[in-house]
Amino acid sequence: MTAQPQSAEFPAGVQTVQREADEVIHSIDASSGRVVAEVRATPVEGVPEIMARAHAAQREWAARSIESRCAALRKLRDAIYEHRDEITQVISLETGKPHVEAVFSELILALDTTDFLARRASEWLRPERVPHHNIAVKAKTGWLQFEPHGVIAVISPWNYPFSIPISEIVPALAAGNAVLLKPSELTPQVGALIEKIGAAANLPGGILQVLQGGGALGAAIIEAKPDKVCFTGSVATGRRIAEACARLLIPTVLELGGKDAMIVLGDADLDMASSAAVWGAFTNCGQACLSVERIYVDASIAEQFRRMCVEKTGKLRLGPPRDADAEIGPMIRPSQMEKVEEQLRDGVAKGARILAGGRRRADLGPSFFEPTVVANVNHSMKLMREETFGPVLAIAAVHSADEAIALANDSEFGLSASVWTRDSELGKAVASRLRAGSVMVNDVASYYGVCEAPHGGSGASGWGRAHSRLGLLEMVRVKYVDVDRMPRTPKSWWYGYSENFAAAADRFVDFLFAPRWSRRMAALGGPRGALGTVFRKHRI
Ligand code: NAD
Repeated sequence: MTAQPQSAEFPAGVQTVQREADEVIHSIDASSGRVVAEVRATPVEGVPEIMARAHAAQREWAARSIESRCAALRKLRDAIYEHRDEITQVISLETGKPHVEAVFSELILALDTTDFLARRASEWLRPERVPHHNIAVKAKTGWLQFEPHGVIAVISPWNYPFSIPISEIVPALAAGNAVLLKPSELTPQVGALIEKIGAAANLPGGILQVLQGGGALGAAIIEAKPDKVCFTGSVATGRRIAEACARLLIPTVLELGGKDAMIVLGDADLDMASSAAVWGAFTNCGQACLSVERIYVDASIAEQFRRMCVEKTGKLRLGPPRDADAEIGPMIRPSQMEKVEEQLRDGVAKGARILAGGRRRADLGPSFFEPTVVANVNHSMKLMREETFGPVLAIAAVHSADEAIALANDSEFGLSASVWTRDSELGKAVASRLRAGSVMVNDVASYYGVCEAPHGGSGASGWGRAHSRLGLLEMVRVKYVDVDRMPRTPKSWWYGYSENFAAAADRFVDFLFAPRWSRRMAALGGPRGALGTVFRKHRI
């Protein structure tokens, strides 16, 4: 194992509020709240020079063959593998997530994405023939070319500080772009590690640069006019970024918050569904965009389902990542915990019942909060409307699948959802009626680890897609190229208009689109027949 990052000379428990003018960013151990290291902040005034460097590097990178870029990605994959212990250790330190979660949802995802795109990108970015159906343009041959945007700014959050940026960086590089990554200021050591791994993989200088800082630095990166911004984070920041990018006409991908619904139908396997609910709500201490935040369970099984969730929640062990048996780590910061408490207070005041948890665990550290099961919830409560982003499982009983679907869709978010039933056809039917970017039948969230599956939402969950071929295509401009196979033949639509030609043009419309075949054939005949006149037209 790689050694722990060095402890800096800070008194225990001290958290320094970061200002943009600071020269360093403090890396904080989420479990203890202690500052454990310092990372140099990127001066805002240095951004234009960094951008110029990225543009210069990108020109050479894009001139390489896609095969050569994919070979570089294979080296990146190997460098990630070589640094695997350091990666999981630093992620767990800064986010507080258990080692197992750092492995499954960060390391494996990053390795698999890199490996997958290194193998698939050349096929997916190959020029694609565009067959023409219309007889008038049959002499042309067309295809799509996929060209890099230039410099892509990746602005990422703290909750999955490794796998989220890697899954944007890798397709961006495969497509021939340079990347400026701004990791979250709450996970600066993970950001620094990404830079180190890029260097270890011998990526050309300037092609992947990591800029350390907070919101003001992110805003400065946008002002420096990258060619595209791929943002993952909160709705509030996403809105600010969308506005800034709109002013400069910079295209964006916005991966924002979620309020994912889980629908448990009357015939569901309750043992499986309750285990999934508990994991889906509490993994990463509930700080996942794909967390199960709302459960709509059929009233006929609601009591049993609630009991199973409470029982399973009671078995979970809280503790820091160094406790290998701990399943629930701390929240990232006390401020995140306060938001959860505020939602619980609002819910309880409106009639919600806390069946398990609901309290801080100061004995474990400043940001530990018990996994919490809440019942009697309804849509007047913030718990059911706003993103909670904490370890809370809110359960509402419903009387039909229709009611569950209506409630699940009654949200400004549209990221993902799940349906639980023994009848897969029913599951698919319910899935097709849910407003979400992805729906799983009999599982939660795990599609995020399927490289072939696109990820993204609608409404307040943002726009655009990550992962899969669709995520790769976000990293390219699509160019249509058309070559005329009969370059010596004048085009019928060029100048040389006449009464005769105007009549033939009308007949040509009949020939192509008249509902009756007899009329189409009639359009061909006679002195003013469509085809002959159109194609033999006098021209200038
Ligand atoms: P955040 O919005 O606070 O910060 C995200 C990033 O934006 C950080 O790097 C931050 O420094 C930067 N930033 C802040 N202000 C900026 C500005 N004005 N201009 C440019 N950059 C700016 O989000 P967070 O707290 O780090 O992450 C949690 C949120 O992310 C949750 O809402 C969660 O649902 C969402 N999230 C979404 C997905 C998804 O795929 N949809 C995945 C993970 C997290």
